Amino acid sequence: MRIEVLSTGTELLRGRSVDTNLGAIARELEAVGGEVRYHATCGDDLARLVEELKLAASRADVCIMTGGLGPTEDDLTRAAVEEALHRPLRFRPALWRAIRSRFRRLGVRVAAINRRQAFLPGGAGALANANGSAPGFRLEADGLLLFALPGPPREALPMFRRFVVPELARRLRKDWDLWEGKAIGLPEADVDALVRRIVGKRATYGLTVSGGVVSISVRTGGPSRRKILRDLSMRVRRALGRRFIDAPIEEVVARLLAKRCLTIAVAESCTGGLIAHRLTNVPGISASLLETAVTYSNGSKVRRLSVPEEVLRKRGAVSPEVAAAMAEGMARSSGADVGLATTGIAGPAGGTREKPVGLVYTAVAFRGKTAVTERRFGGGRPDVKDRAATHALNLARIVLQEG
Ligand code: AMP
Ligand code: MG
Repeated sequence: MRIEVLSTGTELLRGRSVDTNLGAIARELEAVGGEVRYHATCGDDLARLVEELKLAASRADVCIMTGGLGPTEDDLTRAAVEEALHRPLRFRPALWRAIRSRFRRLGVRVAAINRRQAFLPGGAGALANANGSAPGFRLEADGLLLFALPGPPREALPMFRRFVVPELARRLRKDWDLWEGKAIGLPEADVDALVRRIVGKRATYGLTVSGGVVSISVRTGGPSRRKILRDLSMRVRRALGRRFIDAPIEEVVARLLAKRCLTIAVAESCTGGLIAHRLTNVPGISASLLETAVTYSNGSKVRRLSVPEEVLRKRGAVSPEVAAAMAEGMARSSGADVGLATTGIAGPAGGTREKPVGLVYTAVAFRGKTAVTERRFGGGRPDVKDRAATHALNLARIVLQEG
């Protein structure tokens, strides 16, 4: 099945917003055995939209289109489909009633232009939009099965899951399976060598790297694919040992804390709250996370964490001693079982020969002992922050697993 995704919106072509619909659609299709063969992004221009739709009809079996279903002049999807697939628009009284009643429910006056949203190409079936006013539609025409969905991801993706995935999953017969895992604290080349040796010719694999974590996916088909993947994944896990994680690092840390009924508190300098942000993205973390603080200045480290002034003066804020004192001070003052701290030089300025940009000290205080690491992260300021946060969470994981 040749699937095309057609994203529309001039803002996407100008880099004002990023096409996240494409990524979500492609990933979720893959899970049911579908693969996006073509992707096009088209601005809000009728002639070009018609051209793209005709192209989709000529080269694809299914086209999933997002955007352009709003009520304004630049919402051209309905008109483009009418012209490209020769299906004149028809007014749908029931759709118009539904749009008006939605506005009434929200206590908003419906504008006359919203009536446009009640017109659909002949033969199209309306797709209900639970999170917005624009209905989508499904149309089979000129050998193309077309799904037109709204642009905003919070509207498009629930509709995609409800209306598109089930129909395509029924038509696609998935004949392969996938195993996914992550390696942390190991260079991509080493992960590649390790996975390649284990997988051999029994499957195909892919690696992607982001913020110091290498994601591994192994894929294979055939009747014994489940057994092959079980075997390969077990061997990859065993070979990676402590470097294997099965979920994003913050989730692994949250799980470890919850399982052992432990609490954590975080003092961040160079990561500026990124660890707090990541941890608070995990549902249920409130059972374990007591407190976080961005203690950026020396004064704050002294006042808030009782880091000795003398240590700051003699060793500098970016030092193993200060990292340790921050973690210990945070654990003590918050009453948490685990104290986690970062201090480093995120750059681009502020580096010296002894303390270059990217130098980060991380400390974990747990059960009367404090583990401290020194790392030098590459990249720009956001990369250093991101990698330092990942590394700190990973250090917490290692200490928790060993302690
Ligand atoms: P539209 O339905 O075309 O009026 O789109 C409304 C808004 O949805 C746009 O302003 C974008 O912010 C967002 N949007 C549209 N297409 C996409 C896309 N492919 N990925 C992510 N957001 C999108
Ligand atoms: Mg648009």
